[in-house]
Amino acid sequence: MAGSKYNLEPVAVPAVETAHRRICTPLPVPESLPVLNDLARCEPRSMQGQPPIVWHRAQGFQVEDRWGNRWIDWSSGVLVTNIGHGHPRVCRAIREMVDRPLLASYVFPHEARAKLAAKLVEIAPKGISKAFVLSTGSEATECAIKLARTRGWQKAGPRKHVIVSFLNAFHGRTLGAQLAGGMAKQKEWIVRTDAGFVQAPFPDGYKNEDTRFELFEETLAAQGVDADDVAGVIAESYQGVGPDFLPVEYARRLRAWCDEHGAALIMDEVQAGFGRTGKMWCFEHYGIVPDLICCGKGISSSLPLSAVLGRADLMDQYAPGSMTSTHSGNPVCCAAALANIEVLLEERLIENAAALGPVLKRGLLKIQRAHKDVVGCVQALGLVAGLQIVRPGTKTPNPDLALSINEKCFQKGLLMFSPVGVGGECVKIAPPLCITREALQESIGVLAEAVDEAAG
Ligand code: PMP
Repeated sequence: MAGSKYNLEPVAVPAVETAHRRICTPLPVPESLPVLNDLARCEPRSMQGQPPIVWHRAQGFQVEDRWGNRWIDWSSGVLVTNIGHGHPRVCRAIREMVDRPLLASYVFPHEARAKLAAKLVEIAPKGISKAFVLSTGSEATECAIKLARTRGWQKAGPRKHVIVSFLNAFHGRTLGAQLAGGMAKQKEWIVRTDAGFVQAPFPDGYKNEDTRFELFEETLAAQGVDADDVAGVIAESYQGVGPDFLPVEYARRLRAWCDEHGAALIMDEVQAGFGRTGKMWCFEHYGIVPDLICCGKGISSSLPLSAVLGRADLMDQYAPGSMTSTHSGNPVCCAAALANIEVLLEERLIENAAALGPVLKRGLLKIQRAHKDVVGCVQALGLVAGLQIVRPGTKTPNPDLALSINEKCFQKGLLMFSPVGVGGECVKIAPPLCITREALQESIGVLAEAVDEAAG
């Protein structure tokens, strides 16, 4: 959360030394303060708000600073390093491209991009036959929205331009992506007129207890939207703020509704894809196939790369040269992504996420049972999970307690990014998919201790 305030005065914390964690200095480390201060002085305020560790080295499921401290990582950066940090095969693929060297190529052909596009099509569901490589998740969601609108225009003229997304959705921070999102707070300074984006309540079952698909239709009708004017519906496969999942029946009805009204169904898998939930794609849990898939983050577990995957009739709408970007398919990033996907499959990390998912969920439910009044909801699937921290006996967010839990974990050698969620109430858990059962169990124990201490 933008407002998260960690203590920036070094304090003595108990030493920790286990097979996976080591804390041996005050935190934040006094010697790290010049780095933190330079960042605070020279960067916009928006870049602050994460636990005050200065990353020096990260490998597998661990992150280290320069002063001998080592954390188990429950952040994966921000759900990026699915195969783990600094995997040797990804490092080697990057090094080979750098040593050759081939560092930039615009959209001139190169072999790594060809292999990556083929690999992405191979791992996509049947019918998804094209892959367009970009750099960031926001670019991917904006591109998918543009493709849906273009097709709407082709089919029915300019009136078919509405994009439906969901309340509390997050699709990125570029202007269009932020407009597509469903967090009013993120839009108040940037939109004054109807930009053609409409939101429906997300059927998460906790924040919104009405999970009927009819509510989607009723919401559009209440906003005066003609279903046939909808060019596309964009949904995160799980909403990051929970993580919150679609009920299977709802997802299937949404798929059918899009077909009935000629709208493209766009699943934003930027966060959920590449094995995070124990399947390659999270929408597989719902038994649906979207028309367009937005990918990013775990696609490379490292360098910036994203992609839109889609059906040829949508993806081939633009003439050569009119849907590109300067850095589309940078050779070093493509080589890293290709190595990443090979490792994900060969090391059976998706299976590891599926196997460890129930261990994580059981551990979190146990913590909830011990603290029913403040842990309002637990959501978990594969290796992504979240605890909604609330004021006793209510659903009102308690961002201070969420931050306190998060900070105590940090001091004990368990690293998470700062709490997320609309009210900053979600303690979000997303270890690299290569985490071992033993390290996962150890880290659940750390969280349990932190909740006991913070909640009393
Ligand atoms: N979509 C989703 C679901 C995301 O979680 C994110 C990033 N958190 C984005 C899009 C935007 O990706 P990026 O930050 O790479 O632009």
